[in-house]
Amino acid sequence: MSSTLDRPLCPACGATAGKCLVDLPYGEAPLTTYLAQFYAAYPGCDFTALQSARYRLEACDHCGCIYQNPAPSPEFLQEFYHRGLYGPDAPPYPSPEIEHSEHIVRELTMVVHFLTNQNGRRPAVLDYGTGSGRWAFLAAASGVETHACDLSTHAFARLESAGIGCHLIDALPAARFDYINTDQVMEHVLAPADIVRRCANALRPGGILKIGVPYDPNLRAKLEQPDWLAPKHSPHSLNGVAPVEHLNHFEPRSLDLLVQSSGLQKMTVTRWSLATSGQARTPQTLRQRFGTWLRAKLGETYRAYPAGTQTCFYHKPVPSHAR
Ligand SMILES: [Zn+2]
Repeated sequence: MSSTLDRPLCPACGATAGKCLVDLPYGEAPLTTYLAQFYAAYPGCDFTALQSARYRLEACDHCGCIYQNPAPSPEFLQEFYHRGLYGPDAPPYPSPEIEHSEHIVRELTMVVHFLTNQNGRRPAVLDYGTGSGRWAFLAAASGVETHACDLSTHAFARLESAGIGCHLIDALPAARFDYINTDQVMEHVLAPADIVRRCANALRPGGILKIGVPYDPNLRAKLEQPDWLAPKHSPHSLNGVAPVEHLNHFEPRSLDLLVQSSGLQKMTVTRWSLATSGQARTPQTLRQRFGTWLRAKLGETYRAYPAGTQTCFYHKPVPSHAR
C-alpha cells in the first residue's frame, strides 16, 4: 500500500501556490523520537510504513492554511485510527472535564435558541465524527433529537441504546438536520471540502454547520525554531501540525474559503447569541450602543473551548421561494 498521498492543492481554498515550511524524514530524529514518545501508550500505532516517507508542511499563499503535503495515505490513516488510536489495545478515553461538558451544553443551547426562534420546532442535531459519543449523549440528554455519525461503528450500540440515531459518514440523509457539530474533525481529514459539502447537503435549509478546529496564532513563528518534542499544551508545542494527525491548520480566513463553495454563510456570535449575516440589525441609539459595549466588556463572551481552538458557525440559506 502507498503510505503517503500528494496534496498539490490547498485543502482549504484550492490554491496551487504553497511555500515549503518544513521538510523532515519520518524515519530519523526528531520525528522518530516524537512518534515514540507521543504514542507510547498506543502499542497498536505502527509507523513502519512511513519509514522512508517525508513529513512536509506547506503554507498556502492565498489563505494561510498550513498543511501536510504529502500527507499519510487514506490506507495508512485507516490502520492508524482503527487499529492504533482507537483499536483494542488503546487506553480508554480520558474522563471528561466538567467544564467541557458545560461548554458543550451551553453552546448547544445558544444554537437551539436561534433555531427555535427561526422555525419553532424541535431541532434535529448531528454529531459528525462522534468518536466516544460524548457530545451526542449530552445533546440527547438535553432533549433535542440527536443523531451521530462516524467512520467506525464501535460506539453505535451504546448510542442507539440512548435513542441516538446512528449513520455511517458516507450514508447521511439529505436535508435532514438543523445543526451539524464538527469538532476536532477538519484538521484530521485529507479533503475537508468534501466533508463540508457532505454536511451542507445533509443540512435542512436554515440549518447550521459548526466547525471547531485547533488554532495556534504563533505557529509560523514557532516553526522557525521548532521544538518537535515540546509536550502538547506547552508554550512551544507544535500540536497544531502534529505529524500524522493534524493534516491541516486553518487560519480563520481559510475556514471561510473552505465553506464558500458549499453556499453556506458565516454567522456572527455576539456574547452568547447567534445571528445570520442577513439579519437586519436594529439601529441603536448612543445610549444603547454604550450599554452593548459595556456588557461586552463586563459580561461573558462566547469563546471556543478548549483554549487553542477556533469555532465558526455557518448558515445554510433558505431559498427565497421557500420563505
Ligand atoms: Zn489556501
